[in-house]
Amino acid sequence: MTRLILFVILLLLLYVMLHYFIKDIPIRKKKSNTESESEELVQDPHCQTYISKRSAVKKIISGRLVYFCNQECMKNYINEIKKKVDKAKLIRYVSG
Ligand SMILES: [Zn+2]
Repeated sequence: MTRLILFVILLLLLYVMLHYFIKDIPIRKKKSNTESESEELVQDPHCQTYISKRSAVKKIISGRLVYFCNQECMKNYINEIKKKVDKAKLIRYVSG
């Protein structure tokens, strides 16, 4: 009889442990997701507006990931960079 009681207690313990373990996993996943993606704010280099990483328009420019508030800002920023690069090339060309 005591063996049966011990067995039941062991089963209960195992159940509680499993329940605790399974409960713990989705919470951890949820936390890491919100911390790394949606809640973090990034600055749009074109209009200086802060937007959340998840809703931002992402673009890799010269090996760096840059975030924009919308497609228009991204295009304008790329155009600006192109102009700057062209100017730099021109100055280099003129000054020799
Ligand atoms: Zn913008």
